[in-house]
Amino acid sequence: MKEVKKPKKPLFYYYGIVLLVLLLFNIFITPRLMLARIVEVDYGTFMKMTEEGGVGRVQVQNEQIVFTDKEETTIYKTGVMDDPGLTERLYASGASFSKEIVEQASPLMTFLLSWVLPVVVFFLIGQLISRQMMKHAGGANSMMFGMNKNNARVYVQSSDGIKFSDVAGEDEAKDNLKEIVDYLHDPTKYKEIGASMPKGVLLVGPPGTGKTMLAKAVAGEANVPFFSMSGSEFVEMFVGMGASKVRDLFKQAKEKAPCIVFIDEIDAIGKKRDGQFGGNDEREQTLNQLLTEMDGFEGAGGVIILAATNRPESLDPALTRPGRFDRRVPVELPDLAGREAILRVHAKKIKVADDVDYTQIARMASGASGAELANIVNEAALRAVRDGRQVVTQGDLTESIEVVIAGYQKKNAILTDKEKWTVSYHEIGHALVAARQTDSAPVQKITIIPRTSGALGYTMQVDEGNHYLMTKEEIENKIATLTGGRAAEEVRFGSVTTGASNDIEQATKLARAMICQYGMSEDFDMVALEAVTNQYLGGDASLACSAETQTKIDAQVVELVKRQHEKALKLLRDNRQKLDELAKYLYEKETITGEEFMRILNA
Ligand code: ADP
Repeated sequence: MKEVKKPKKPLFYYYGIVLLVLLLFNIFITPRLMLARIVEVDYGTFMKMTEEGGVGRVQVQNEQIVFTDKEETTIYKTGVMDDPGLTERLYASGASFSKEIVEQASPLMTFLLSWVLPVVVFFLIGQLISRQMMKHAGGANSMMFGMNKNNARVYVQSSDGIKFSDVAGEDEAKDNLKEIVDYLHDPTKYKEIGASMPKGVLLVGPPGTGKTMLAKAVAGEANVPFFSMSGSEFVEMFVGMGASKVRDLFKQAKEKAPCIVFIDEIDAIGKKRDGQFGGNDEREQTLNQLLTEMDGFEGAGGVIILAATNRPESLDPALTRPGRFDRRVPVELPDLAGREAILRVHAKKIKVADDVDYTQIARMASGASGAELANIVNEAALRAVRDGRQVVTQGDLTESIEVVIAGYQKKNAILTDKEKWTVSYHEIGHALVAARQTDSAPVQKITIIPRTSGALGYTMQVDEGNHYLMTKEEIENKIATLTGGRAAEEVRFGSVTTGASNDIEQATKLARAMICQYGMSEDFDMVALEAVTNQYLGGDASLACSAETQTKIDAQVVELVKRQHEKALKLLRDNRQKLDELAKYLYEKETITGEEFMRILNA
């Protein structure tokens, strides 16, 4: 990878280190290696050897005497003593006086020992350390040590790759992407007419709606390599590293063209450059590199970039302008038919009883994403195994929806009798208010078995069909239904409990949205008082109005909820007898279905 620039250190830095090591080696190690063969003896031994004529060669130095035996197998040394007659005695013993006893190793050996060996040792240690560090730092950070390797995974198409048929629902998104597949198959058709494909396609939608799956399916259908990387993988500790990763990715992609490059969570690098002091340099450089790369190749190259995000509003306008990510494909939460299709796709992987009613399950799981539906099917299969059954039944699926919504049943939660009555009234209150208001969805199921999420009971309502618009009355009725639980407690017991906190939260949210977002109050008409910041991630909103207006909004919210609460109270008082009857039935049965409820209500 030529393009990768390693962080360069000045050359003298390396030479300096090598030189230092050589010096140290020569000062401390080499002499020791050479002197290793020398035996130190006391002066007496030396005198004795001289007397016996055992000394071969001798050298008297200032501080020591070095000598060998006659056979010159060993070199000895000893200290110098005041010994006047020594020279004569030595001469008499037949020792020869030598200038250099410690034999010089051969010049080649010396060179190897003192110059080559240290370099080799130094090099090996360096290698070892850097390998160790790399192992610890993991693949992504290996760039710190100059080893820049892109970790875009290459998915080369295999026969069992994901196809469009594996992605249920999302027909609009699929239609949109089919064109790209077609282009990758046969670009000439498009070139003849002069049409060019969009370079980038942005898949936007809430989490778990199948964006990654769709991107993989495009690669699978087109039978081309699929490079996948998450936006956060580009963000590195050092400025310029992410940019070099981008360069690398595109280089690889161009070599493999036609191909698909998929960048998940692109908002991690594509966030608006706000130009504030001390902005994120690294991210901005990475983004700039991405922009440059996208300009750099022409559609003819056959590299198509797909990117996914659930925060499209936070993307830099330069990224979304025509010529870069110029096509935006919404991948929304599935509608009723979509949910049913997704359930069927996932149910194919497990053994399901023949009589399972997917439509009903899909209806119960309103608002669930593809990922949640996949989870629901899997939970059902797990439940079947737990109960020792061979196939998954309708009961497993409904129960697993409840598990996903409200958590597992709490086996050991012991409610007092009074509490159980309270919960019964509370839940029947919701259901009764819902049922008595014509526009509210019918009740599917009511239960007072506590769940691990903390819910002591709940009423499951189901929409009959798809709902895209809600009227003002419908929202009001919904608020009334939410207050119905508390209202029932008041009607029956004359006091209230903490059980309604979640209802209160939801009711307030709805009421606030009516006033601030939907223009459903007389006072403010069609003025937006709130700006939704995260459309796909829970839809958080921030107020955009003066403090006085806020005060008014608060007052209106209170008034609105209060009115619906009154309505619920009135409804329940009017149906007091049914309320008691149904609550008793629920208290005894603990779980009742929508039909049972309606039967008693209409009796
Ligand atoms: P996203 O990228 O939008 O967050 P994914 O594509 O990673 O979501 O989807 C997560 C999982 O959810 C998938 O592996 C798949 O099992 C399931 N899923 C989501 N949408 C669909 C769909 N339309 N059809 C089938 N399965 C889906």
